Amino acid sequence: MAQTTPNHTQSVLGWAAHDSSGKMTPYVFKRRENGANDVTIKVMYCGMCHTDLHHVRDDWGITMYPCVPGHEITGIVTKVGKDVTRFKEGDRVGVGCLAASCLECEFCKKSEENYCDEIQLTYNGIFWDGSITYGGYSKMMVADQRFVVSVPENLPMDAVAPMLCAGITMYCPMKDSKLLETTASPKKVGIIGLGGLGHVAVKFAKAFGHHVTIISTSPSKETEAKKRLGADDFIVSTQDSQMKAKKRSLDYILDTVSAWHSLGPYLELLKVEGTLHIVAAPDKPMGLPSFPLIFGKRTIKGSMTGGMKETQEMMDMCGKHNITCDIEMVTPDKINEALDRLANNDVRYRFVIDIAGDEEKNNLS
Ligand SMILES: [Zn+2]
Ligand SMILES: [Zn+2]
Repeated sequence: MAQTTPNHTQSVLGWAAHDSSGKMTPYVFKRRENGANDVTIKVMYCGMCHTDLHHVRDDWGITMYPCVPGHEITGIVTKVGKDVTRFKEGDRVGVGCLAASCLECEFCKKSEENYCDEIQLTYNGIFWDGSITYGGYSKMMVADQRFVVSVPENLPMDAVAPMLCAGITMYCPMKDSKLLETTASPKKVGIIGLGGLGHVAVKFAKAFGHHVTIISTSPSKETEAKKRLGADDFIVSTQDSQMKAKKRSLDYILDTVSAWHSLGPYLELLKVEGTLHIVAAPDKPMGLPSFPLIFGKRTIKGSMTGGMKETQEMMDMCGKHNITCDIEMVTPDKINEALDRLANNDVRYRFVIDIAGDEEKNNLS
């Protein structure tokens, strides 16, 4: 049962799952009136993230049905509230994972809203007014201006959409380790997994001149990784000889794989004092043998998406370096098919739903 409030007066067409079968069907629901700090956004595109799949199928047991997923949203501002200063009608904007936070804690104060204890997400969250949040698999959104970013003019609205989750998830750890600044001493960067997240990480690292090694279980991805994405090296993680040959060769590893794995063999790839950064969440605790950690004085850390200030920074960086996601476009009637393919990792590298369709896009231009 969806909670709404009396000010939820705007009808909108979306696509929702109604039970753990995860089957998506067209669904008309209500969104709130555009408040003083809100912007109303005509949704153009929405990326499909693995998190969407977990929610519609209730893999984590936390889904409130009906569930309208989607947190990689781009669109055009159609209305602004009276206190909105950063946006005007017609602006190209994006909405990512975050819908609301307490606004007062130490993390909110420094725009690390993603670490606020009261963070509410773009879908399957509870907004300030008590209503359940619905995501971007829908024709229109109402969002508080704090949780909206500008999309640089030179970036295509479809391919930039996944940056709102996949992009920021890669940006924060790499920025944290000073990999996203001009440097005279490029680093040896390893990326575990070449999927929606991993391929963005390659683009970020290459934009700043680092040496990139893809570490993957799929030998078939080597040509693609090197020839098309510009990776410098490729390690097949299931080949012990290849893993051994590259011991102590990397400064930094970004682990994007959500299937269970032991961290031990990957830690061995790091130089002494190297860092392994985790962003994916296997459902069981990962294997962590002590020896590779203590013998190499290595660090393991993690992070979850990013705050709003960094999301805008990431967008601006993508604009400057012309970085977007590699996508496969789908129409809304193919969402179920795309979710099934996503479950099998059968996508290069991100599905994006063409929410507005041609006719409506022409009306906007
Ligand atoms: Zn996501
Ligand atoms: Zn807070």
